[in-house]
Amino acid sequence: MRLDKFLAHAQIGTRSEVKKLVRKKRVTCNGVVTVKSDLEIDADHDLIMVDGEEVVYEAHLYIMLHKPQDCICATADPDQMTVMDLFDPPLPNDYFPVGRLDKDTTGLVLICNDGKLAHQLLSPRHHVDKLYEVHTAEAITSSQVAMLSADIQLKDVCYRGAKVEVRDTHCMWMRIAEGKFHQVKRMVAHCGNQVVSLKRLAMGPLTLDETLGEGEYRLLTDEELAQLR
Ligand code: URA
Repeated sequence: MRLDKFLAHAQIGTRSEVKKLVRKKRVTCNGVVTVKSDLEIDADHDLIMVDGEEVVYEAHLYIMLHKPQDCICATADPDQMTVMDLFDPPLPNDYFPVGRLDKDTTGLVLICNDGKLAHQLLSPRHHVDKLYEVHTAEAITSSQVAMLSADIQLKDVCYRGAKVEVRDTHCMWMRIAEGKFHQVKRMVAHCGNQVVSLKRLAMGPLTLDETLGEGEYRLLTDEELAQLR
């Protein structure tokens, strides 16, 4: 792999930023200063250091993002901002959001380049629960809670009942095992109420780190990753 690609993949900076670091002689390969950004290195065996600190290359990174409103869960879009546009320096091209939230939904999104894990989390066979905080236009009634807790058959789709926890007159937590298009909004609308804001709090064992503001992200801890696998 080229040195500049390796450094960019390791999140040291963009390709042009890392090239500057190399030109400034801040990068060593096996203890030797190099000024060649296109140097071919062996990511598994060569010791690469920047300012004397080892750069550890991870083939896969797992990132927890607190998605803000007004960006879409896609890898690229000609017209709209995507979750990938929030990363600075940008992530390599093989990273993607695991699953989709609506443009106006906030909360937990996992970003990674591990197709196997993504499949495991998204496949309907694995029934990975998603927990949402739902704010509604009208006060939540007990009959709405009962309807949401039972299976809902619409003309085009069937939703399995949610686990509902009412938090306030206009706020509830809904835990659903599926991830169908506009599922929470459509379930709530079917029961005669309306979602005014939606936030994903958890996906399986992974819980949104509330210290992350909207648009902020961090790597998963080893423990979080072990629980997901
Ligand atoms: N359900 C919805 O209606 N929207 C989302 O973004 C996620 C779940």
